[in-house]
Amino acid sequence: MTVQRILIVSGTHGNEINPIWAVKQFNSEENSVKQGIEYEYIIGNPIAYEKGCRYIDADLNRSFNESKNYHQQNKSIYEITRANVLVDQFGVNGSDPCQIAIDLHTTTANMGTSIVMYGRRLKDFCLAALLQNKFGLPIYLHEKDEAQKGFLVEAWPCGLVIEIGSVAQNFYDPEIIKRFLIIMTSLREEIYKLKNNLIELPKELIVHVHQRSIDYPRDENGDIDGIIHPKRINQDWKIIKKGDPLFIDSKGIIHKYDGDELIWPVFIGEVAYKEKKIAMSYTKKEVIYSKNEWVQAFDSL
Ligand SMILES: [Zn+2]
Repeated sequence: MTVQRILIVSGTHGNEINPIWAVKQFNSEENSVKQGIEYEYIIGNPIAYEKGCRYIDADLNRSFNESKNYHQQNKSIYEITRANVLVDQFGVNGSDPCQIAIDLHTTTANMGTSIVMYGRRLKDFCLAALLQNKFGLPIYLHEKDEAQKGFLVEAWPCGLVIEIGSVAQNFYDPEIIKRFLIIMTSLREEIYKLKNNLIELPKELIVHVHQRSIDYPRDENGDIDGIIHPKRINQDWKIIKKGDPLFIDSKGIIHKYDGDELIWPVFIGEVAYKEKKIAMSYTKKEVIYSKNEWVQAFDSL
């Protein structure tokens, strides 16, 4: 096992400022190689951060597309150029290579502290299992969503998003900052233990697997006509069954969930997803049994 450098990215979205502050604080206290593991800290989207907005031309966290063609065609988009710069420098084959990327985000939804995984990469399972075991964090496994791809961590062989909320955009919240600090401190410890066979994976991992996203109710002009129902607001990760309320429109009509399957919603009312026409995403709970392969895959980093 040769993991030496972990890339800690904050400010991938320029208006998510708590992780940037947490890194600033952490960096000044912990700015050294410890236990053979070094952190590299970067602000994902520095220009958007300066301007206090999510992005300049396009969502940076959807700009890490693998195809060269795609990059060639979209050269004038700041975030596409920025994604290339980051991979060229900090990618596993870059000039300053990092083997693992941890991307720190906040959400306006009441998600608490959670882990977001993209797809089912064995190395990611290994790291996610450790963090879930240590902190009991819920995991949102994002997969099979054609409308959403090109996530930052997918450009590294191993990587997770830490998503903490609820907090407003551009608003400093000391509690949220504290939670990021705890996660950053633990990451190094956990990876060190993993590296030295001092850890046993939990037997199983509970994940919430992405199914689909739903939009707000809309009127004939396409404008939003319905807000999240009072019984649904802030109820992220809480089960929804047939007949449960989702939205209430301007006429007072309640829009209910009419599916037969039980679902667990996440990102309820996330402000940044309005432009993506997402009012919330539906997930299904799945139990995944830990495998030795996960540790072996991690060892090969
Ligand atoms: Zn974000």
